[in-house]
Amino acid sequence: MSTPIRRQYLAIKRQYPDIIVFFRLGDFYETFDDDARLAASVLDITLTSREMGRGQRVPMAGIPCHAAESYIARLVAAGYKVAVCDQIGEPNGRQLVERRVTRVVTPGTVTDPAMLEASRNTYIAAALLEGERAGLAVADLSTGEFVTTEIVAERSEEAVAALQRELLRLAPAEIIRPPAVGDQPDLLGQAIPEGAYVTPTEPASWRFHSAEQALKEHFEVETLEGFGCAGKPLAVRAAGALLQYLTETQMGSLAQIVELSTYSLDRYMTLDAQTRRNLELTESSRGERRHSLIAVLDQTRTPMGARLLRRWVGQPLLDLEEIRERQRGVSALVRNALARARLRELLGQVADLERLINRVVTGAAGPRELASLGRSLATLPSIREALAPAPELAGLATLPECDDLVRLIDTALVDDPPAALGQAPAIRPGFSPELDGLRTASREAREWIAGLEQAERERTGIKSLKVGYNKVFGYYIEVSNANRALVPPHYQRKQTLVGAERYITPELKEYESRVLHAEERIAELEAEVYRRLLAEVAAAADRVRRIARQLAQLDTLASLAEVAVRRRYVCPEVDESTVIEIAGGRHPVVEAALDAGSFVPNDTLLDTEDQQIVILTGPNMAGKSTYLRQVALIVLLAQIGSFVPAERARIGLVDRIFTRIGAQDDIASGQSTFMVEMIETATILHHATRRSLVVLDEIGRGTSTYDGLAIARAVVEHLHNSSRLGCRTLFATHYHELTALERVLPRVRNYRVDVLEEGERVVFLHRVVPGGADKSYGIHVAQLAGLPRAVLRRAREILAELEAGNRSERRRRREAMERVPAAALQLTLFAPPHPVLEELKQLDIEALSPIEALTTLYELQRRL
Ligand code: ADP
Repeated sequence: MSTPIRRQYLAIKRQYPDIIVFFRLGDFYETFDDDARLAASVLDITLTSREMGRGQRVPMAGIPCHAAESYIARLVAAGYKVAVCDQIGEPNGRQLVERRVTRVVTPGTVTDPAMLEASRNTYIAAALLEGERAGLAVADLSTGEFVTTEIVAERSEEAVAALQRELLRLAPAEIIRPPAVGDQPDLLGQAIPEGAYVTPTEPASWRFHSAEQALKEHFEVETLEGFGCAGKPLAVRAAGALLQYLTETQMGSLAQIVELSTYSLDRYMTLDAQTRRNLELTESSRGERRHSLIAVLDQTRTPMGARLLRRWVGQPLLDLEEIRERQRGVSALVRNALARARLRELLGQVADLERLINRVVTGAAGPRELASLGRSLATLPSIREALAPAPELAGLATLPECDDLVRLIDTALVDDPPAALGQAPAIRPGFSPELDGLRTASREAREWIAGLEQAERERTGIKSLKVGYNKVFGYYIEVSNANRALVPPHYQRKQTLVGAERYITPELKEYESRVLHAEERIAELEAEVYRRLLAEVAAAADRVRRIARQLAQLDTLASLAEVAVRRRYVCPEVDESTVIEIAGGRHPVVEAALDAGSFVPNDTLLDTEDQQIVILTGPNMAGKSTYLRQVALIVLLAQIGSFVPAERARIGLVDRIFTRIGAQDDIASGQSTFMVEMIETATILHHATRRSLVVLDEIGRGTSTYDGLAIARAVVEHLHNSSRLGCRTLFATHYHELTALERVLPRVRNYRVDVLEEGERVVFLHRVVPGGADKSYGIHVAQLAGLPRAVLRRAREILAELEAGNRSERRRRREAMERVPAAALQLTLFAPPHPVLEELKQLDIEALSPIEALTTLYELQRRL
């Protein structure tokens, strides 16, 4: 027979079979059975056992309550979920105290500040897939963000890919999904990134009706129209399922989720995971933040700003007006150096308002946090003032009035309040007369006791009389045995020591009880006053959230402006053209890593109509990859609204940046470098549009020369001729034979990265100039790398031999390349007619004068 407590535990555990249950017993949270074994090994705590019924010893491992958060954090970080089961009500005598799970902590639902990273969001996502549609909802419990989207593709593979891209961008700490159905292929599983923490939830919660119902109930609305997801059933289902899961884990207290918004992926440039990685947007290829684009751009002063900047970098815009709006903000702050400096200084005093207000709303904020919220809001008048000289920022500078909150918090809290209630007084004298009264009474009682020793010494004449305190008897008066005769009759003896007696008096006990009682009441009342204070601030949560959002934007704009000034970036001209024209472009990250002034700027011209494809040759280490990435990064920066590292830039909107850079073996999936490369190339050829930017580095490298060359050439031809394409392309290659294409395909141009030969040495100039390269300088690089002299000498001998034979071979290949055009021409049969032909067709010849006809012909010929 189990004990009642064991039965209570088992009943609760049954509801949370896959979750570690922290069961409150006195000052400890205990885990039992398998949970205990697991907790003991993960947390490195002692595994004991406990008798819980006759002959039943149960494995048990416990942790002290006051340290629970850090242990929970460690379990969650290790990928487990924890259900915290607390005592409800006070234990009274023999009856079993009621216990209930008060929250479930999972990787996606942690809100403890210690467990969160300040500069990035901790997201939980809900994803579902049906045919060629996908639904994705995302929430951050610490900031209250809650958004949803519906992906509509032409084929289901595309929906899978788009969903996966979005999941990779967001990198949620946890993804919930409907469970896979036994005999059907799990397409959703394919969309979920490897290594993600996945929680399948009740299929019922994903049904449209229950999802919709959950949303309507939570937001207390009749229709979802206002959230923009009407007519997007999968967006509704994902959001509803997520909301239900959050409600379950938070035990219904989801006060921080106050709105839902629907976003559309069409608003943003498409960047697949590959490209994000290749461009090292948020971390370098080594996985560090250092040497990433964000590390260069992030001069934000608040955590909200840092998170927003990260989002901007991940989602470049496609809407010209939106881009220009941001540019106006950055420009205004670039121009007004004083306003920028002052704004950034003030933002430095603003705490994480977004998270703080949510902690206020959920009642989790301690006095110190509330004070920091107040201090942050107190900067608003100065921020408005600082921005006055920048009328372009009027929209963001009109921050809602918050003096009432500032004053309230300031009058309510002491100057330097404790982190938690009870550690020290938190409420300022004068705020609550009742609390003040209690405090006065308590102080007076203490003072009376403090004065008692002196008073009794005088009254009794016992010089050595002492007033003391211990936990068992409370306050007492101590008299040594030598003075026993002088003890007044109303002293009541309480305890006998070796050389002394301890007494109490009714009066002393009366004051003692006043002190103790007052303390208890003070604690209760302070908690009550504080609770009301939090509620009052929480009532203004919408306003504070709006401020947090505006400050985040100001911070992000100021960060971009600061970087623009420090690093001499310029405002790019962004338009609807299909041109990329950059004068004096630089790679933002490489430039930042080099000594000032040592980066060599380069120009770029890409134009769908004319110079569509640039073939870039040059030796290793010359700077080809740097150049390719630099162009992509400048485009990306332009479309997040940032200034760009160049002297001048004009960027025709790019809908998607494709990159195929470097050779990374995907060992984990058992695919060869070459296979990975071909898969990526296939993706590009299938999905690039006229508006895309394609950056290819060393296509065809992982195979034999002829195969590689043939594939590389066919890819270039396809990009050039295919009717759908015309995408701006940068193609770096070590197949010098490809430079022959310039003569075959009208929109191909050759460029090379220049080097200077000085005897046996080469100097890398990092300068991109028109023309093709025909030497590799591999041995020079080997020399730079420090290969032994003897090896280098021998390599030169061998190279000379090979080149003698090879020159004719290479010439043959190049000539063959030029002879191939038949294939290219055939391809063009399927391509759109040349624009000149189109125009010729449209020409109304009869309406032309002979001179006009002649000039038109001239003009058309010039453009061929
Ligand atoms: P490749 O792709 O041609 O092998 P990389 O682009 O990797 O060469 O460049 C090699 C190194 O040369 C880079 O690490 C960088 O330090 C330097 N470099 C590249 N481009 C420039 C430049 N424009 N100015 C100064 N240094 C550069």
